Amino acid sequence: MEDNDEIIALIDDADERPACPKGPSWRILVVDDDPEVHIATNYALQHVEVFARPLALVHADSAAEARALLKHDRDFAVILLDVVMETEDAGLQMISFIREHCGMSQTRIILRTGQPGHAPELTVFNTYDINDYRTKNELTRVRLITAISAAIRSFHQIHAIDETRRGLERIIRASTALIDDREMAQFAAHVLGSIDTLLQRKTSTLLCAHTGTDDDDARDQPLRVLGASGRFSALLGQTVATLDDHDIRRAIASCLEFEQHRFDLNQTALCLNSGTDEGVIYLCCDTLLNESERQLLEVFATNVAASLGNVQLFEQLNFIAYHDALTRLRNRNRFILDLNEAVARNADTVVAILDLQHFADLNDGLGHEIGNGLLVAVAERLEAELGDCCRLARIGADVFGLIGPEARVNPHHLFALFEPPFQVSEHALPVSIALGLCRMLEDTPSGITLLKRANIALNRAKHDLAVSHAYFMPEMEDSTRWRLEIIHRLRADFAENRLSVWFQPQIELASGRLSGIEALLRWPQVEGGFIQPPAVFIPLAEYSGLIVDIGNWILEQSCTAFAELRRQRGAPQRIAVNVSMAQFRQSNLAATIADVMQRYDLGPGELELEITESIAMDEPKIIVGALLAIKNTGARVAIDDFGTGFSSLAHLRQLPIDAIKIDKSFIAEIANGRGGMFAETITALGAKLGIATVAEGVETAEQAGFLRGLGCNTAQGFLYGRPMPLDELKIWIAGRYDATA
Ligand code: C2E
Ligand code: MG
Ligand code: MG
Repeated sequence: MEDNDEIIALIDDADERPACPKGPSWRILVVDDDPEVHIATNYALQHVEVFARPLALVHADSAAEARALLKHDRDFAVILLDVVMETEDAGLQMISFIREHCGMSQTRIILRTGQPGHAPELTVFNTYDINDYRTKNELTRVRLITAISAAIRSFHQIHAIDETRRGLERIIRASTALIDDREMAQFAAHVLGSIDTLLQRKTSTLLCAHTGTDDDDARDQPLRVLGASGRFSALLGQTVATLDDHDIRRAIASCLEFEQHRFDLNQTALCLNSGTDEGVIYLCCDTLLNESERQLLEVFATNVAASLGNVQLFEQLNFIAYHDALTRLRNRNRFILDLNEAVARNADTVVAILDLQHFADLNDGLGHEIGNGLLVAVAERLEAELGDCCRLARIGADVFGLIGPEARVNPHHLFALFEPPFQVSEHALPVSIALGLCRMLEDTPSGITLLKRANIALNRAKHDLAVSHAYFMPEMEDSTRWRLEIIHRLRADFAENRLSVWFQPQIELASGRLSGIEALLRWPQVEGGFIQPPAVFIPLAEYSGLIVDIGNWILEQSCTAFAELRRQRGAPQRIAVNVSMAQFRQSNLAATIADVMQRYDLGPGELELEITESIAMDEPKIIVGALLAIKNTGARVAIDDFGTGFSSLAHLRQLPIDAIKIDKSFIAEIANGRGGMFAETITALGAKLGIATVAEGVETAEQAGFLRGLGCNTAQGFLYGRPMPLDELKIWIAGRYDATA
C-alpha cells in the first residue's frame, strides 16, 4: 500500500481528465501549471466521496485561466492552488482575486507549492483565510484526501451557517414587509411570495384564515382561502370546507385541531395562531424540505400569525370607516374613493345619485324602525339587481350612490327597479325617487367633482316635478356658480336693508271694492330697476335657507304696512303674505305668526298666508300639522298658483284652507280658444268645498267679467293695479275710494 502514499506527481499513467460530473457533488478547482499535477490529483481523488457525495474536479492550467474561469463559475467547495505559476507569486495573487474580487468567502483554499521556500508570509494566511498549505512532496494521496475532506467539512459548515443567516435575513425582511400590510389581499401575496423566497424555489401555497367585518366575531366566519399560488391559484376565495382536495382539507383540519405545524412528505401545514384568530399556511413543493428550511418556515409562521391579527384588525377598522353600519353598503367616503378610481380608469361609466322622496314623512309617520327597515330593503334590492356590475353606496340619510355601466345605470332601469313597493314588516311601502346622473366627461378632474355634478343634476331633478331625473350638463355648473353669486349678493343686500316689500291690490269681483293686498318682495337696484325678479331670486333664497330670515322680515313689514293703512278710508280687510316651504319646516312658524298678529293687533282673517300648491302636496304630514297650528292663530290660509301642481281632490279636502288662487296661466286662457275652462272648474270646485277663489293675473275687463260670471270671489292683476310701494298704494287706495264711494 506504499503505492497509495506515493507522491502523486509521479503518477503518469492517467491521461484524459474526466468531465466534471453533474448532480450534487463537491466541486473542486485545481489550479496548477504542471500538467502532471492535474493527472495525479485526478487519479488520487477518483472514487472518493465526502459526506456521501462524490468530488467533481475542474482544472485550470494557469492563474490566468483560473481567473477567466472564475468570472462565470464560482461554485467551488475547495480550490487546490499552486503558488508558483506564471510568476513566483501568481498563486498568492490569485488568493486576493478569489476572496476580494470574486467575493468567494466560503470556498476553502489549499495552497500547494513545489518548493518549501515558497511558503507564503504569515500575513497572507491571516488576511486571506487559507485552509492549508502543503508542499507537493508532502501531499500523498491519503494526506490529500484528508486535507480535502477537512476543507469540505469546513466549507459545508460555513455554507450552512451562511444559509441560515441569509434565511433569517429573508425572514426579517419578509416580516417587516408584512407588518406594513393593511389589506388582506396584499398581505397574502406577500406571505406567498416570501415563502418562495425563503425556500428559494417555486411552491404551491394556500393562506387560509377567517375574514371578519365590523361586528362579527371572525371565528364565526368560515375559514377561507385568502391567498393562493402555483397550482392552487384557482382556489382563491373558496371556503376551506368546500375544497375538492381531501388531502388539503385533512392536513389543514389536523393542523388546526392540534395547533401544530405538520411536515409530511410532500405537504406542509403551518399553524397560524395569533391568540385572537387562527389560520393555516398549506404548501407543497417538488423537493423535500430539509431541517433548516423547516426551521425557517416555523420562525416565519410565527411572524405571519402575529401580522395576520394586525391585518384582520385593520380590515375591520377599514370596514367600519368605509361602510354604512345600517345597510352595510359603502359610505360616502368610500364612494368618493370609488369615484376617484373610476376617474383614474377613465371608465365608461355613469354616476347616479338616488334620493328617496318623502322619506322624512315616512320616518316620522311609521317610526324610525320602519324607516331603517326601508333603507335596508332598498339597499338589498339595489345589491341584488345591480351588485354584480355597480359600486353601491349610501351617501346620505336617504340618498344612495351608484357607479356602473350606462346599460344598467339609467333612469329607465332605475325607475323600473323602484316600481314594486318595498316590504318592511307588515307594510308594503311605495317609494318614489329623484335621480341625478352624470356621465364621465372627458374633463372630469376628480371623484369629488363627479359627485358634485351628480348632485347638481339631482337638485335639478328634485325641482322639476314633471320628470324626477336629470343628467348633468356643463351649463348647469356655470349656472350653479351664477346662483351662488346671486345668493351671496342677496344675503349682503338683505343685511344692509336694501330689500323692500311692495303690495298689489285684490278686488272683490261682486262689489269692485278693495278687499285685500298681497305683499310681494322686491330686490331693487341702487340706480332703479330690479336686480333679479322674485321668480329667480326667491327660489335661490329658499335653496340657501335665507328665506327664513327674509320671510320673518316680510311678515313684520307687511303687518306694519297693514296697521298703517288701517287708519285710511277704504283700507283693505286683509293682507296676504307668501310663505315658503323652508319657513314651514321651522317648528315655530305658528308661534311667530301668533306673535306678530298680537303685536300688530290683527284680528282673525286679517292675515292670510299663501303657500304654493307644490308645497302643499310635497310633504303632506308636515304641512297639515303646520296649517292646523296656523289656523289656530286666526290667520287664513290660501293655496297659491292652484292648478300648476298635482294635487288630488281628495288631498285638497284634507287641507284646512280658506282660499285657492287660480294660477294666472288659466286666466290668460280666458281670452283665447280654450275659454277659461280650467278657471271655471276650479271656481266650481271652490264653491263646492266652501273655499273662496281668487283669480291671479287679471289683465282685461273681459277676464274680470267672465270670472264675475263664474262666481269667482276675488281678482288680482294689472287691470286693477300692479304691485307698488306702500306710499303709492296709499295714493292708489285714496283714488279708488274716491272713485267707488
Ligand atoms: P305669486 O305669489 O303667485 O305672486 C303673483 C305674481 O303675479 C307676482 O309676481 C305678481 O307681480 C304677478 N302678477 C300680478 N298681477 C299680474 C298680472 O296681471 N299679469 C301678470 N303677468 N303677472 C301679474 P312677482 O312679484 O314677480 O312674484 C313671483 C312669485 O315670487 C310670487 O308668485 C311668489 O310665489 C314669489 N314671491 C313674491 N314675493 C314673495 C315673498 O315675499 N315671499 C315668498 N315666499 N315668495 C314670494
Ligand atoms: Mg302669492
Ligand atoms: Mg300666484
